[in-house]
Amino acid sequence: MVKKRLFGTFGVRRVANEVLTPEFASRLAVSYGTVNSGRIAIGGDTRTSTKMIKDAIASGLLSSGCEVVDCGILPTPALQYAVRHYYDGGIMVTASHNPPKYNGIKFLDEFGIGIADEMDLAIEDIYFDGEPKRVSWNEIKEKFLNDRVIDEYINEILKRVDTEAIKKANFKVVLDPGSGAGCFTSPYLLEKLGCKLITLNAQADGFFPGRNPEPTEPNLDTLISAVKEFKADIGFAHDGDADRTICIDEHGKFVQGDKSFALVEKLMLKNRKKGQSGLIVTTVATSSAIEEIATKNDGEFIATAVGDLIVARKLHEENGLFGGEENGGLIFPDFVYGRDSALAVAKILEIMAIEGKSLSKLVEELPVYYSQKNKIECVDEIKEEIMDKISEEVSNLGFNIDRTDGVKIFKDDGWVIIRPSGTEPIFRSFSESKSQEKAIELANWGIDLIKKHKDEIES
Ligand code: MG
Repeated sequence: MVKKRLFGTFGVRRVANEVLTPEFASRLAVSYGTVNSGRIAIGGDTRTSTKMIKDAIASGLLSSGCEVVDCGILPTPALQYAVRHYYDGGIMVTASHNPPKYNGIKFLDEFGIGIADEMDLAIEDIYFDGEPKRVSWNEIKEKFLNDRVIDEYINEILKRVDTEAIKKANFKVVLDPGSGAGCFTSPYLLEKLGCKLITLNAQADGFFPGRNPEPTEPNLDTLISAVKEFKADIGFAHDGDADRTICIDEHGKFVQGDKSFALVEKLMLKNRKKGQSGLIVTTVATSSAIEEIATKNDGEFIATAVGDLIVARKLHEENGLFGGEENGGLIFPDFVYGRDSALAVAKILEIMAIEGKSLSKLVEELPVYYSQKNKIECVDEIKEEIMDKISEEVSNLGFNIDRTDGVKIFKDDGWVIIRPSGTEPIFRSFSESKSQEKAIELANWGIDLIKKHKDEIES
């Protein structure tokens, strides 16, 4: 029998009040409380279903004997910050960048990191087959409110950047938090940094009326026009739970996440104190520019499997300096063990202020790589076999490979990574090279390899 699984790469995400009902949330929470007890912080994003689910979670936690601290509506990283400093664990109610009908539950451990696989499995076991812990009536603890997390989180960010330099630069900024949890943090942060601020979608609204919560280029057309219209220095956008930041440069150009990652990486390596780790962590699917910058600046570099949680855990284990992903998720492990959008905003402004250069100029100075992403349909059952066959074939051809996640094949002029989707019956072939033509050629080669072995297995 295939084991029933509830958790994706970071918690549970379902349609609210269909699958994700109060009963479901409450049972999950009591299962969590059975595995991890103590004083547990809860919080959520701006979705219409968040309060309903958060209250059910509070009940489940109390039933298992936990003390509950409700931190209200706030970004995921703000709750992660609070858990790391004050609590024994946390539960965040959010569906991140997904459309408004969805909601989700992210579980945190005592460091504020998304819980490890073993704990996921332990919670699932109790949820499906076990008997959760229910304390007797006289052992039920209190539920408290903590409405001071956001202020402390913003003040901590201000301590981590050169606020005087940023204030002096007098930036004009357009901010689009997309009606998500970032409405409660980024506008206040930018004001404290002395920016002339123009906001779009800065009213919290669970219907996300202004735009889809995912900060992709097509979803940010209004922000892009506003940056041009107001002649702003930069535009910032967040996703629903404000753990990701995407930048628009002063010409209204969408800046890819790996570019902002590379910019902040350079600053972090340059500003590191004597004796401080220079370890940069990202995934095998992120641009080689990240490794190149680490090497050039006397840093070290580790590439993990894909997933922000895996990067965050590695940074924690190895005491790393900085990490992230190509989608605008930047992780500052001395602050929060997870993607943090608000410190990313402050750091990018700090770079512009200190260097005295526009964002487009700073991006221009980064190593240039081109990428290409293709996909092909493939049933789940034969994905593993295809990857093994491809590994064997390309190893025999003399190419170096990396099996951390999928199959990454290194050639003289670039690399291609072949990865099966975890949620759809497809394979992705993602490549990077010094020219666009070459990147396309590599990605097509990856697809040809998959096709060849798929046909062989199926015939
Ligand atoms: Mg998110």
